Amino acid sequence: MIQEMAYVVFEDLMTTNLIVHPGDVSLKIHREDCGRYKARKPDATTVKWSDLFGTLAEAEEFARATGKTWAKAKCCLRRS
Ligand SMILES: [Zn+2]
Repeated sequence: MIQEMAYVVFEDLMTTNLIVHPGDVSLKIHREDCGRYKARKPDATTVKWSDLFGTLAEAEEFARATGKTWAKAKCCLRRS
C-alpha cells in the first residue's frame, strides 16, 4: 500500500492582526512529515496547526476559505 501524504495548515497568530511584511503570510501549508510540524508544541499560543488534510487541494481550500494570506511553506513544499 502506498502511504498517502497528508498536509497541515500552520497559522502564525502573531501576524494575523498585524501588517504582514512583503512576502510574508499568515498561513502556510506544510507536509505532515515536515520537521516544523513534527517539532510543534501542543501548548503554543502564538501559532496554530490545523487538522490534517488528505490532499494538498483540500489544505489549499481550507487556507483560501479563511480569507487570510497563505502560501506553500518553503521548507517542505517549495524545494527547488
Ligand atoms: Zn514545512
